[in-house]
Amino acid sequence: MRDVFNFSAGPAVLPEEVLRQAADEMLDWHGSGQSVMEMSHRGKEYMGIHAQAEADLRELLAVPDGYKTLFLQGGATLQFAMIPMNLLAGRTGADYVNTGEWSKKAIKEAGRLCKVNVAASSADRNFSYVPAFSDWKLDPAAAYVHVCMNETIGGVEFDGIPDTGDVPLVADVSSNFLSRPLDVSRFGIVYGGAQKNIGPAGMAIVIIRDDLIGQAGEHVPAILDYKAHAEADSMLNTPPTYGVYVAGLVFQWLKRQGGLAGIEKRNIEKSAMLYDYLDSGDFYRNPVEKRNRSRMNVPFTLADSALDEAFLAGAKKAGLLQLKGHRSVGGMRASIYNAMPLEGVQRLIAYMRDFEKTRA
Ligand SMILES: *Cc1c(COP(=O)(O)O)cnc(C)c1O
Repeated sequence: MRDVFNFSAGPAVLPEEVLRQAADEMLDWHGSGQSVMEMSHRGKEYMGIHAQAEADLRELLAVPDGYKTLFLQGGATLQFAMIPMNLLAGRTGADYVNTGEWSKKAIKEAGRLCKVNVAASSADRNFSYVPAFSDWKLDPAAAYVHVCMNETIGGVEFDGIPDTGDVPLVADVSSNFLSRPLDVSRFGIVYGGAQKNIGPAGMAIVIIRDDLIGQAGEHVPAILDYKAHAEADSMLNTPPTYGVYVAGLVFQWLKRQGGLAGIEKRNIEKSAMLYDYLDSGDFYRNPVEKRNRSRMNVPFTLADSALDEAFLAGAKKAGLLQLKGHRSVGGMRASIYNAMPLEGVQRLIAYMRDFEKTRA
């Protein structure tokens, strides 16, 4: 056992069991004499790994028929561009909901390609909540509605799925992917980078409804066209093979945790424990409206920011790593993804308690 707990927002902690298995299989995968990294992506060994990962992902999320699951490169950021390139289909604009830093990045990128209607925003209260769905000013002619289901930096998570009628709902779930069950049938596209909750950096997962594939204009290069990727089963070019393999190990680990219902229970328990502690005094503070507090990313500030450096130095000594908040907001942030054990959260709270005692 490693005696540290890693609270990084991403790339982030992976289950120790998975890392050990990957290490055991590093030089010789299942008697093949090859590392997964060395395999041809067209060979039967890797094709098997790829197909199993896809099947396990579909099983975990209960992805319905009529949706493709793609393993792509370019991270979630490439999807910020691919989504308008593929979904506009002759329309001029799309609706975006602005709940924080990642929403803003998606909006900015879409703005290069189409007219963006910001249908709702929580800028008025420093992005500390998700605007009530009934207040959204949706455009019925929009090509799609884009949301970020979990703002990794602000620690703001949707507590439901909006109803956008016939307009496809497109969701960035990078930082709460597979942390809870999700009704995929409510979405046109669900996408995210792998490095927050699923595996190594270098891969994005896109789950897309079949009717949204094949709408890209003639000018869109094949590598940016969902249709080309779907027709090639995510092997239009060399896929991120090692990333798919490790993600596949994580999917199997999740199945052993009781699937998404099982992991959700643990995520509720871990996050409730930390928020209850933050709310129990005045020394630490989380600004997010209770119903939208993220189960994955928990930002908090100290009553006196002059103590930040001492807090971080002491945490590191106690084996509690990467608690520094995002440079845009300061303070602290504890990311407690699926792979963070309950013990990590308990150790963090114990440290915070001690720190408060000596400094308050
Ligand atoms: C990290 C993150 C991204 C960007 O992911 P990349 O893989 O670095 O492109 C986008 N959206 C959210 C919500 C994120 O947390």
